Amino acid sequence: MSYFTRLECSVPCGAPALDPHERHFLCACGAPLLARYDLDRARAWSRDSLKGREPNMWRYRELMPIFDDETPVTLGEGLTPLIHARSLGATLGLDRLYIKDESLNPTNSFKARGQSAAITRAKGLGAQTIALPTAGNAGNAAAAYSAAAGLACEVFIPKDAKRPFVDECRLYGANVTLVDGLITDAGRIAAEKGKPLGWYDVSTLKEPYRIEGKKTMAYELAEQMDWRWPDWIIYPTGGGTGMVGMWKAFDEIERIGWMTGQRRPRMVSVQAEGCAPIVRAFQQGTEKAQPWEGAKTIADGLRVPRAIGDFLILRAVRESGGTALAVPDAAMVQGMLDIGKHQGVSAAPEGGAALVAIERLVADGSIKPKDSVVLFNTGGALKYLDVLG
Ligand SMILES: *Cc1c(COP(=O)(O)O)cnc(C)c1O
Repeated sequence: MSYFTRLECSVPCGAPALDPHERHFLCACGAPLLARYDLDRARAWSRDSLKGREPNMWRYRELMPIFDDETPVTLGEGLTPLIHARSLGATLGLDRLYIKDESLNPTNSFKARGQSAAITRAKGLGAQTIALPTAGNAGNAAAAYSAAAGLACEVFIPKDAKRPFVDECRLYGANVTLVDGLITDAGRIAAEKGKPLGWYDVSTLKEPYRIEGKKTMAYELAEQMDWRWPDWIIYPTGGGTGMVGMWKAFDEIERIGWMTGQRRPRMVSVQAEGCAPIVRAFQQGTEKAQPWEGAKTIADGLRVPRAIGDFLILRAVRESGGTALAVPDAAMVQGMLDIGKHQGVSAAPEGGAALVAIERLVADGSIKPKDSVVLFNTGGALKYLDVLG
């Protein structure tokens, strides 16, 4: 039922394709691996077949990393609402502002999609313990999906992470290690401890499958917008799986013939002023991003000083004709309050940051009043309420 065939280097460096029936994490060259499908054969798959399918991201199973004898590890993730944000849009002079509300996923963020895919594969590959470093939401999702899969979960989280993130990992039975440092330090410690023990590491882009879950956001957007791309996608960016996943999906959707001859959306990568490695690299015109020193922001999902898929994020932003911009923390909080007050949607600071980005792009004339704009509200406000003061 799935056209999943192989894993390939994302660069690509020229290394031969790898067998997805074995455990693989990074390419031998150190770059992320990507799942590849037989897209020529997949042209036989019709988008009409989606009608009446289960309302979660596994409705796109033909282009998901799963084998015929497997059942996905699912908690109903995906098919989140695409809200036509008329009231919020009116405050900006936009008739066609939409919010893709990812806060309504299990564990309150889009991270559920990635972990559903990654842990489905981990289980299929015989893993017993899932491990990862996290800023918060990825750990919550990993803990929940590990529990659903009957696997153990080891979460490594900076010790200054917000309390609800730590508590929620424990709620799902995960073992939590508090790390004195950033997510990059947590990653190093998790790898050192887990390698000899055979833990299955689901760090961002260090395994090829979380991005496959995240890419379903683009499939859904296409389906929910009746197979017309919006003009703009505004996405808060940390490790970049959301951006990279959707960019990959655009390619797949075109190649299977579901949407052809349309301009892809301009991708806008939004970061925090206190941690903006991608924005800096975009402005400097470099292919990769230098690590950010002293990363600091209230948007935990954006506190990622070094992204292993930096070149893939930058490629998506540039090839789409998009842009990258950084937002101060205080403006993000105002953005959360505006989304809440004008539209009744619960937004994390990351979602608030996306609104601030839209305000700026409207003000400088980049976004025109008639443009269609999709704001990705990547998570809900509830785990961050302390930032409201
Ligand atoms: C992780 C996270 C992000 C950043 O997503 P990436 O795929 O790592 O770029 C944005 N918002 C929220 C709420 C997150 O949890």
